[in-house]
Amino acid sequence: YRSKASNQGPHVYVAADNQHGAERLRTLQELRLALHEGQLEVYYQPKVDLATDTVIGAEALVRWNHPARGVLGPGEFLGLAEESGLMDELTRIVMGQALDHAARWQHRGHPLTVSVNLAPGSLADDHLASWIGDLLAARSLPSELLMLEITEEFLIADRPRAQAILGRLRQRGIRISIDDFGTGYSSLAYLRDLPIDEIKLDQSFVMPMMECPRTAALVAAAVGLIHSLEVPMVAEGIENAEALAELTRLGCDVGQGYFFSRPLPAAQFDRWLLERRAAADAV
Ligand code: C2E
Ligand code: MG
Ligand code: MG
Ligand code: MG
Repeated sequence: YRSKASNQGPHVYVAADNQHGAERLRTLQELRLALHEGQLEVYYQPKVDLATDTVIGAEALVRWNHPARGVLGPGEFLGLAEESGLMDELTRIVMGQALDHAARWQHRGHPLTVSVNLAPGSLADDHLASWIGDLLAARSLPSELLMLEITEEFLIADRPRAQAILGRLRQRGIRISIDDFGTGYSSLAYLRDLPIDEIKLDQSFVMPMMECPRTAALVAAAVGLIHSLEVPMVAEGIENAEALAELTRLGCDVGQGYFFSRPLPAAQFDRWLLERRAAADAV
């Protein structure tokens, strides 16, 4: 799932499978149906505090249980959703499921932060802060347990507006994460002026860092930059113990990646969490 700037609008998503014509139209009809028939399912991937080795939250990642094609990843349908005006509806469905689950974690006495990705187009939704606030209130969920992951593109299109929207979310206590850091139009001014709670270094630096000294030097510099803003740095895409050790050595705060767990359906994630806690208690 990639996105790029374009002169047709602030940005367009490029569908990974490049469907055309009739096939695309059929997928679009199927997607409309999927939204109404509950075929979208949120998977969860843990975020681990590296200093204490504890799970502090989970990222919500959408999947489509397609009746004929099986489980589809976001790269296969987010572009279409964005182009055809279905993204807001999709975001609400994901948010609803993610907050339901966050409420469940909280009721079990293990509150975890849930991180939900926002498409750059969500900037156009003036009611964003208010409907998210309503969903939190309906579940009596503290706003601090919700983190919104936005990319730099979200900020670039209309900076004053982005700043106003983020300000409104922040006022409600909702936390903001900058996703895929290092791949967009990074600007020191944005980073300085924006109210943010976390920065996620893009995974394209994480495993390559192990092979390439220049990439490793960039990651070290990114840790310094992020820490100078006094926000925690998250590394995504950690696939093995060596990369984890190196990131820990460099001062990275939080990690995410297949090394800990792949994104899992809610019930499996909860089982994974219980087993991990049981193992930690046993030592
Ligand atoms: P992202 O937010 O940067 O999420 C991280 C992606 O990296 C996820 O892909 C995750 O499964 C994958 N990943 C995690 N650990 C590893 C690892 O160790 N190695 C590798 N190679 N990959 C890893 P996924 O689930 O396919 O999602 C792709 C992108 O789609 C996300 O990137 C995010 O931008 C978008 N996305 C996912 N769910 C949603 C959603 O509900 N709403 C919106 N607007 N975007 C979403
Ligand atoms: Mg993300
Ligand atoms: Mg990311
Ligand atoms: Mg990414």
